[in-house]
Formats: sequence, structure tokens, C-alpha cells
Amino acid sequence: MRPVRKVLVVGGGTAGWLTATYLASQLAAARPGGIQVELVESPDISIVGVGEATFATIRQTLATIGLDEDQFIAGANATFKQGIRFDRWVRTPGGGERGHYFHPFALPSHSPGKPDLLPYWLLDHGPIGLSFAEAVTIQSQVVDAGRGPKRLSDAPWHAPLNHAYHLDAARFAALLAAHGCKRLGVVRHAATIERVELDETGAIACLHTREKGPLRADLYVDCSGFRSLLCGRALGVPWHSARDILFNDRAWAMQVPYERADAPIPPYTIATAHEAGWTWDIGLQDRRGVGYVFSSRHTSEERAEEVLRNHLGRVAEGLPARLIKFEAGYRREPWCRNCVAVGLAGGFVEPLESTGIALIELANYLLANLFPAVVEDFEPVARVFNRVVVARYETIFDFIKMHYCLTRRRDSQYWIDNADPESIPASLRDKLAMWRHRPPHSTDFIADFEMFLPSSWQYVLYGMEFRTDLSARRTLYDRVVEAQREFAEIQRIAHFAKGDLPDHRALVQAMAARA
Ligand code: FAD
Repeated sequence: MRPVRKVLVVGGGTAGWLTATYLASQLAAARPGGIQVELVESPDISIVGVGEATFATIRQTLATIGLDEDQFIAGANATFKQGIRFDRWVRTPGGGERGHYFHPFALPSHSPGKPDLLPYWLLDHGPIGLSFAEAVTIQSQVVDAGRGPKRLSDAPWHAPLNHAYHLDAARFAALLAAHGCKRLGVVRHAATIERVELDETGAIACLHTREKGPLRADLYVDCSGFRSLLCGRALGVPWHSARDILFNDRAWAMQVPYERADAPIPPYTIATAHEAGWTWDIGLQDRRGVGYVFSSRHTSEERAEEVLRNHLGRVAEGLPARLIKFEAGYRREPWCRNCVAVGLAGGFVEPLESTGIALIELANYLLANLFPAVVEDFEPVARVFNRVVVARYETIFDFIKMHYCLTRRRDSQYWIDNADPESIPASLRDKLAMWRHRPPHSTDFIADFEMFLPSSWQYVLYGMEFRTDLSARRTLYDRVVEAQREFAEIQRIAHFAKGDLPDHRALVQAMAARA
């Protein structure tokens, strides 16, 4: 039996540094039986540099790695993200535009012994004129008031309201690198891999680098980005494309200054629908990250850049934009022989619900907890890893696609094609059919395979004005007075929270100053 003693991570983007720091913090060489973690990154090939909105799981990940929250806020230029505001996605049945809706990270309020509020909201017992998210959580109103999710005095990584962060991808990778090398014993090689040598079984034998000669390990983690140097190019693991479900395959990205140094920072991502895609708008401390994700089958690159610049207006004048090409999909066997692909090397989902970094976190969690003690265990461990990762991709595709097929936008071929039943996976069609007569429930999902909780499906469904008709079962929901008391209590707490929680920009500046 050959013990696994050394892991070599290839790539120094978000995937590479998150993986190296996570594995080192969980399996470090300092402990008996621990492993040595090394990372090789090219000094000449830059990181993708987008990917600036995270998922709520990031708090646990960063706490596990041992980062300090204030230092993270200061070092990564980070701000708080409490959800996503979808602008111009909802159309009335007549084709008119309805402003926006919010997908919050907070769960719907549900006190023990009290009724589940969703059926009562569906049966019009909720507060008049409030959307589902506004009626069942305080978070919509907190973000509308520009508040952060916590007070300065709250414990690190803890907050009354669930949240993630926005961050500067380049600064985040540099922060993780410094932490990994100084605190966690990660060894960094600045070198470009020129050739991958395979052994007689087809596994990776050695990586030949220009600057450092051959590098060897027991297990290789491919975080080389879209190149997929090890998993895709050297091992030839096939790609499973999802381009017939998720059409977007290009993005124009820009970094935009604030018009005033003290401009308010929205504590959420803004996703605005356009003629052939949507724009993201992410507020960091000293700039915005903005981009237009679009389908090259439905518009030209020139027209897409024009749409982005028109959307931004005067602030975009003279600013450079960068074009990024991609395809939705994943490697069929992200763990193959002695190589695990993590990050863009393993797959890609367009960033509508910011799943990229969350998928890296999932891979790290699985890798650390399933970590094989001996090389002979690679195959069975790989089977478990691959089953979970592939299932996650498939369920994420369903969730993202749901945004496109529910909008009722039909103002361009892009939106018409997105609603074509042929492009909607059968698993999603089934869900939507059932949810016409009852709302989503946790039993619709296999929890280990899901990234999104049932509440996220509910927020998006009802934000998009999907109709679940409960009238035939109206008599089952006879706790109307209790439900209405709960709805009123949520509004009372929302009013209090808006006064209690600090302004978002003031909060991040105070945390950064304290670091
Ligand atoms: P990269 O950042 O591309 O890193 C690749 C690394 O490999 C580099 O260090 C490079 O030097 C190294 N490398 C490559 N070749 C060699 C070689 N021959 N030798 C040595 N080293 C080599 N995710 C989110 O969670 N939220 C978002 O909002 C989000 N938005 C996105 C928007 C767009 C338009 C795109 C394209 C992606 C977005 N993502 C988002 C995904 C996110 O950007 C990625 O998951 C994340 O940045 C990880 O990238 P990576 O580390 O896999 O690859």
C-alpha cells in the first residue's frame, strides 16, 4: 500500500488557493499522518480575475481556513452580499415590465409550533402588496434600507442575517496565498508547466516545468482554469456540455469607479435582464465589478459591448472592457486516476446565482473529508466524489434554467428560445408541473445533491410571479389568524432591524479599519 503524502495543486486562482489552504488547514503535515500541500502557478498566465460574488457557504469555508474576518474584508476589498436583486426579469402577462424582485439568503421565518407561512401567502393572507420575500423575511427591507447584515460588535463570521460577500478576485487570491504560505505551510512554486508525463497506467507521473524542472506528487489537483491542463488536456476526460440548456457563452467584464467616494454600496448583487443575457453589478469598497453575460448565438460581441456601455452610461466612458469566452458544462469524471479537477478546470455554470466559488468549496469539503489514506483507495473515493459533484451540476442547471423559463419576457429571440420546452430539462419540467398545485418542499430534493435550499426555489418562483393554485386545498390551511400574527411580527422586527443595523459602507469601512 502506498500512503498519500503529498498533494500538488496546479493553478493559483481562487480555485487553487482555496483548495491549497483548505486542504492544508484540514490535513496539514504538522499533524501525525498529515500531508504536504504544494501549489504551482505560472508567473506568466494570469488568473481569470472575475468571480466576485460568493455564496453563503463561504463564511464557514473562510472560518475553517483560519482567516480573520476583518483582515478578509480589508485584504479582499470585500463587502457584504445578502442576496440577489433581479431587475427587469418579471413581465406582466400583457408584456409590461415589473421592476425587480429579491432572492435573499435568509430563510423564511418559521417559529416552532407556528404555521408554515408560504401556503397562507399563496392564499392571499399575507400583508397586502408584499412579495413572498418581503412577507416572510426581514432581509428585503434591511437591504432596501442599505443596511449591513450585522453590527460591528457581532462575533467574527456570525451575523443575525445570513449573508455571503463580494470580493476582488485578484486580491482574494493574494490574501489566501499569503495566509497559506505563512500560516498553513503551503509550499508555492512559481513555474509554468510545459508538459504532463503519464505513467504506463495512464495516471500522471510528473509535471515538467520551465523554471523548476519536474514536480511530483501522490495526488494532483487541477485548478488550471479553462485550460484544464491535467484533467482535460493530459487525461482527456470528456466534457459534458450544457449549452443547449444554458445558452450564455460570453461575458464582457469591466471595473467601474464609484461616482463619489462615499457612494452607497448595495448589499446585494444586481442582475439585470437585457435583450440577449443579463448584467451583473457588484459593489466592492472602492469600485464596482460589472459585466454582461450573453449568448453569442443571439447577439454579436459588438452589440453586447454596446448594451453594457449603454446600461452603465457616462461612468463607462473610456473604460476598457474584457471579453471572456466559456461554455456551461462539466468534466464527466472530475476525479480521474490521481487527478481531481476543481474550479474552471472541472466545469462552469454561468454566474447568475454565483455558484462558481461555491462549487470549489464543495469540492474542497469532499476532498478533505473523503481524503484517501492510500493510493489504492483512489478509485472508490473518486466514484463517490464524481457522483456528488456531477449531481450538483445537474441540479444547479435546473435552478438557473428556471430563471430563464419563468420570466415571460418574449421581446427577443433569446428569451423566446429560453422558454422553448425542448431546452428545459425533464427534471425541471416535472418540478414546475407539480408546483402548479403545491409549493416546493424539501422532499422534492435530495439534500446532498443540492446547492440551493427549497427556500431559494420558492423565492425565485414567487419572485417571478409563478402561480401555485392551492384553492382546492384551501380548507387545510385554517390557522389564518396565527399566520397573520406571524406576518405582522416579521414587519415589526424589520422596522426594528432597519434602525439597529449599520449602514453597509460604514460597516465595511469600520471593519477594514479595525483589521
Ligand atoms: P483561473 O483563475 O483561471 O486560474 C488558473 C490558474 O492556473 C492561474 O493561476 C494560472 O497561472 C494557472 N495555470 C494555467 N496554466 C498553467 C500552466 N501551464 N502552468 C502553471 N500554471 C498554470 N464564480 C462565483 O462564485 N461568483 C461569480 O460571481 C462568478 N462570476 C463569474 C463571471 C464570469 C464571466 C466567469 C467566467 C466566471 C465567474 N465565476 C464566478 C467563476 C469564477 O471566476 C471561478 O470559479 C474562479 O475564479 C476560479 O477560477 P480558477 O481558479 O479555476 O481559474
